[in-house]
Amino acid sequence: MRRKLIAGNWKMNGSQAANDALVQAVLAGLPAGACDVAVCPPALYVPQVHGLLQAQNAVALGAQDVSAHETGAYTGDVSAAMLKEFGVRYAIVGHSERRQYQHEGDELVAIKAQRLLAAGITPIVCVGESLAEREAGQTEAVVKRQLAAVTHLNGKCVSEIVVAYEPVWAIGTGKTATPEQAQAVHAALRAQLAVAVADAGKVRILYGGSMNAGNAAELLAQPDIDGGLIGGAALKAPDFLSIIGAAT
Ligand code: PGA
Repeated sequence: MRRKLIAGNWKMNGSQAANDALVQAVLAGLPAGACDVAVCPPALYVPQVHGLLQAQNAVALGAQDVSAHETGAYTGDVSAAMLKEFGVRYAIVGHSERRQYQHEGDELVAIKAQRLLAAGITPIVCVGESLAEREAGQTEAVVKRQLAAVTHLNGKCVSEIVVAYEPVWAIGTGKTATPEQAQAVHAALRAQLAVAVADAGKVRILYGGSMNAGNAAELLAQPDIDGGLIGGAALKAPDFLSIIGAAT
């Protein structure tokens, strides 16, 4: 059985005061025996949140991105080793906002996943189709191409990754994929993983895209949905906690 994982992607939100309040509220409201939980603050706040999460194991620290390079003259980048030094256990790569605004392609995403795996950090690899691609019947082809880049480069280590299926048209729009739509894509990704890696059964595939307190339970009830990558609803402790409750 795969343990469910609920990861909060804070995106470019927060302040030291807001982060403090949010983390304290999440820790205080966490149900006993909760599923795996992670929060992914902006890089600048990683040390702060690392401090807030110390002395407990229930909520893990994540990051939203990582450099494709190991060290050196890469102005503005943050390396996997630096994240590791501050207790980061997960890092998102290939989020559609980075694919769109930073023009990140499949090969770069695969290299970033490789850097994380080498540093002992679990990559959360995002895949997902745009509305135009869905309407053109290309959903499976797009997500399989995005995942194949990562499995191809990372070989056997791929069983250490987490995958997040995030249909671009569902992110931040309030339009969630139906449980059936999401399950169909998750099943296709799982079948692809089964061919690419031996112990693919342990790879968690999260759903992301307007998951909230109201729709989490039916999405998480699908056989191949192993958790959620939560944007907007992760910024409000009661909403985030109720999604955690649905996964626990
Ligand atoms: P959302 O974002 O929950 O606000 O739609 C999810 C994500 O982009 O990871």
